[in-house]
Amino acid sequence: MPDDEPTTYDAVVLGTGSGGKLAAIELARQGRSVLAVEAGRFGGECPYVACVPAKSLLLSARAGLTWDQAVARRDEATSGRDDSGSLRSLTDEGVAVLRGRGRLAGRHNGGHQVVVDPGEQGERGEQVVSAQVVVLAPGSAPVRSPIEGLDSVPTWTSDQALSAADQPARLLILGGGAVGCELAQAFALLGTNVTVVELADRLLPGETPWVGAMVADVLRDNGVHLHLAAKAVRAESVDAGRALRLELADGQNIEADRLLVAGGRAPNSSGLGLDALDVALEDTGAVPVDARCRVVDRSGAPIQGLYAVGDVTAASSFTHSANYQARIVAADVAGPGHDADYRAIPRAVYLYPTVFCVGLTPAQAAEGGHETTTAAFDVTDTERAALVAMATPPPAKLRLPGRVELVADARTGVLLGASCVGPEADSWGAELALAVRARLDVHLLSEHVRAFPTWSEAIYPAACTLASTLARGPAGKPG
Ligand SMILES: Cc1cc2nc3c(=O)[nH]c(=O)nc-3n(C[C@H](O)[C@H](O)[C@H](O)COP(=O)(O)OP(=O)(O)OC[C@H]3O[C@@H](n4cnc5c(N)ncnc54)[C@H](O)[C@@H]3O)c2cc1C
Repeated sequence: MPDDEPTTYDAVVLGTGSGGKLAAIELARQGRSVLAVEAGRFGGECPYVACVPAKSLLLSARAGLTWDQAVARRDEATSGRDDSGSLRSLTDEGVAVLRGRGRLAGRHNGGHQVVVDPGEQGERGEQVVSAQVVVLAPGSAPVRSPIEGLDSVPTWTSDQALSAADQPARLLILGGGAVGCELAQAFALLGTNVTVVELADRLLPGETPWVGAMVADVLRDNGVHLHLAAKAVRAESVDAGRALRLELADGQNIEADRLLVAGGRAPNSSGLGLDALDVALEDTGAVPVDARCRVVDRSGAPIQGLYAVGDVTAASSFTHSANYQARIVAADVAGPGHDADYRAIPRAVYLYPTVFCVGLTPAQAAEGGHETTTAAFDVTDTERAALVAMATPPPAKLRLPGRVELVADARTGVLLGASCVGPEADSWGAELALAVRARLDVHLLSEHVRAFPTWSEAIYPAACTLASTLARGPAGKPG
């Protein structure tokens, strides 16, 4: 073999977050030689600066811990942001690892060539490797808001907020999506004076309106100040740069010690070498993929051996969807594979009470051409809620509102979506995700037996209401 021949693997994975790490492991378990390349921390965002520290802070805050106690637990949960455990979980599976930033560098022997730049952390120069299969899994990064003066004031990204040692007395959060709401509740319950500014007229604008309204009530109860339908226009530093003032379009000014920019994330799709393969990024910056997570070129044709998973595809930006896509890739590489089905990817926001939504909202269902029917039930009317309220009254600042709403196709009786707010809704709502995925007739949902006294009993009355208005379809025959 000539000296300049690249080292060859069966598969190379660029980025080892939720999607890339699982793809590498699944491919190695198929007996393939796999190289995982990581530009930052092995393990990606979720365990160190996203899901895990956010949930840790929320649980500590809810349990009444102090900031210092909560930070100690957060740092324990994230292993102090030391990625050696994640790295080991790859090497234990036989995956070769390389620190550096990878990019595609043309075709090689029917596969792909990848150049890895070690950046500042590497002693060696660029390395060139090749593989028949390359999986792009570089994740996403926070979007910087185009607000005048933002660069001159003390800001945080969510990564920085979730790594911070010091607690700001006043925190201003720009963005009332899942990240903004979770961090608002966590910081507020830990004693920070929190203000949220959201451009839309409600929190969690992607969900059906009552969900955002309920969350707004909860956050206000937690002491959070909300500015909805509010546009931030200018930021300036005050108090010799130790604080900031944000001006809203309606002329109001808000002062805070720190501004957390939580206005969304964009795919890390630049610099991957996709131009040479005639791949046109989507308007969102996402790498275009087909239902097998194969990267497609400008004509829509899949590029042999090239896949993308996780936030970079913007298909659905969650750890569980990145994991799902990794399994889709592994199945396709092994053959014959199957298409991804994103209809029932759960959308959870880990507040207290928790938000858990799946499938279509009533508005999305109507836009999709469905004639819809909906029914709802108040979670606080379950026996479980009564028992919890009697046995363990929640702390004064925590309320227990809750509701489940089901949306079905009025012609077929098939469940299209569900929105749940309630304690542990992320657990008891899971049956609704399966029901949406299985295109379940709501009659079956109404006949399904749930244990007493569980929160999931709230689903029963809503399903019965729906079933009573619908003719029984073939899928709804009792078993
Ligand atoms: C505050 C917060 C809380 C969240 N909470 C949840 C939650 O509770 N549940 C949930 O399901 N989701 C949650 N998410 C979303 C979740 O974190 C992401 O969807 C998930 O991490 C995406 O995984 P990924 O595989 O796309 O990549 P990432 O985890 O983003 O990892 C990508 C990795 O690729 C590396 N990389 C980038 N470019 C290259 C390159 N060219 N070569 C080599 N390496 C490269 C990066 O350094 C990074 O380590 C949260 C997100 C945030 C911000």
